[in-house]
Amino acid sequence: MQGKLIFKAIGIVAFFWLFASYVLAFQPDKTMIDYTIGWQQANSHLFEITIQTASQGSDTLDFALPNWRPGRYLIQNYARNIQEFSASDDKGQTLDWEKVDKSTWRIQTNKAVIVKIYYKCYANILDAGSSLLDDKEAYFNGTNIFMYLVNKRLEQCRLTIRTPENWLIATALKKDSANTFLANSYDELVDSPVIASPSLKTDEFTYANTTYHIAFQGQLDYDIKTTAEQLRKIVEQQVKIFGGTAPFAHYWFLYHIMPNTPWHGVEHSYSTSITMPANAFASERGRQSFYSVSSHELFHAWNVKRIMPSVFLTPDYSREAYTRLLWFFEGVTSYYGELSLKRAEIIDERTYLAGIEKNIVELQFAPGRLITSVEDASFNDWLQPDDKENSRISFYNKGEVLGLLLDLEIRRRTDNTKSLDDIMRYLYQTYALQNQGVPENGILTAIEAVSGNNFQKFFAQFVSGCEELPYDQSLSSIGLTLELGVDKSKPEAYLGIRLSPDERGTILNVTPSSPAMLGGLSKGDVLIAINNAQVNLANLSELLMEYRPGDKITLTVFRTRQLHNFEVTLTNSGNINYQLKSLANKSETQQRIFTSWLASLK
Ligand SMILES: [Zn+2]
Repeated sequence: MQGKLIFKAIGIVAFFWLFASYVLAFQPDKTMIDYTIGWQQANSHLFEITIQTASQGSDTLDFALPNWRPGRYLIQNYARNIQEFSASDDKGQTLDWEKVDKSTWRIQTNKAVIVKIYYKCYANILDAGSSLLDDKEAYFNGTNIFMYLVNKRLEQCRLTIRTPENWLIATALKKDSANTFLANSYDELVDSPVIASPSLKTDEFTYANTTYHIAFQGQLDYDIKTTAEQLRKIVEQQVKIFGGTAPFAHYWFLYHIMPNTPWHGVEHSYSTSITMPANAFASERGRQSFYSVSSHELFHAWNVKRIMPSVFLTPDYSREAYTRLLWFFEGVTSYYGELSLKRAEIIDERTYLAGIEKNIVELQFAPGRLITSVEDASFNDWLQPDDKENSRISFYNKGEVLGLLLDLEIRRRTDNTKSLDDIMRYLYQTYALQNQGVPENGILTAIEAVSGNNFQKFFAQFVSGCEELPYDQSLSSIGLTLELGVDKSKPEAYLGIRLSPDERGTILNVTPSSPAMLGGLSKGDVLIAINNAQVNLANLSELLMEYRPGDKITLTVFRTRQLHNFEVTLTNSGNINYQLKSLANKSETQQRIFTSWLASLK
């Protein structure tokens, strides 16, 4: 009995010892991958990252860094910035490793239970999709700097951010403790950019049970409360399209205001990161850009982060994710970005219509529209052609114009009983809420299902095809018309070159089929004179004003240091323009559809 008790006691002690060893050995536990980020010397711009995981009995573990990031469809090879990689076990013993491709590191686990990797990552670019470490902040997008354990992207992740004392952290990641955050998967971890800084300015507002957080890094010379009030109006209009509540309890608007920084935004499921130039709020135009970019990125929380092409559901970060639908996910997002500003009454009707006119003008002056469809531009976004200006179109631009025309066309064909709002709701319910991706023909089938109309021909001509868009037919539904006008500030005589802005007069582009192209001019020629008169960008228009369409002129250029003369016959399209006009007498139907189209959602 006694012996048995001693045996039992030993058994209990052994059990606890084993249990304790088990717990210690499996920290982090099997289903958690632990990320730590910190730095020694901020001005070196080198983040130091450790990733610790259970080996789960594998002989080797592969860690990889994405070659691209969602939101930018271009191979960027983030592994280029990795330095001083090493691997060890939980006792600090070095483990062997080798690179098996440009972005993948293979570790020999040597039967270690825990494997830990360490590396430095150079981070010195500030834009919405990059990472930056300096003495003022640590800003990172996980796709740039955090490696994933290959085939284990669905495991939970814990991120510890080692910052100096009193720094604040803004991120959509779920907070575990002061500097530790949790993500349900690697994809969620890297879909949540982080700003850590001692000088963040923050505010928040709520709408329909969701809290929207605002964080500004940099010099904010504007009332943050005003931004919150205005953003709330945009949120309201977008949430109402999708049924009244947002599919998240928290959402973060993360802003950087920095000198010499362009407007740039990247969408995420629970946040957006946006950069803007200094003094952005000082002008009406800058304030409009602020709300415009914010509105576009917020709409992405539905359109592309939840309603998304099938190939984006679990993308392969090592290679391209091809889709022909970017025109819809970017262009239609831009369409709703601007329409939401009008519906929220942040911009007035005149400003909104002027924006549409500007988009149409941009498209109609893009030579690539005649040879590249929006589907091809989407699919080939991974390639940047050398003659982009002539051969490519922007699927943002044409997609936005197509969004307008589709909305108006659906309203016209259904007597305004259906609109693009119904298509968005249909896509959300049919795909997003079912955790399904949108198939490549899913936009066309959604429009046909909702409108009860055949849109095959429309898509063949204007989405898969390169035909000129049917402005008159679609715009007439709301009593608008696109008129060909004359811009009297420009010469009627047309040449077809774009010159560099400096004194030198380098030809940066020659438009296809233009007089300059037919006359023999080439990109890279340095234009010296027109009919012996000296010319550069500053006086080109003025010189062309002296000539009439049909005139022959002699252009003198340097080409590879040799002087050449080219004879060019000018044509007559130098001053044409497009103007969106309202019909003088709108019919009752046109007025009704127009009013309904721009009305705030109640
Ligand atoms: Zn976008």
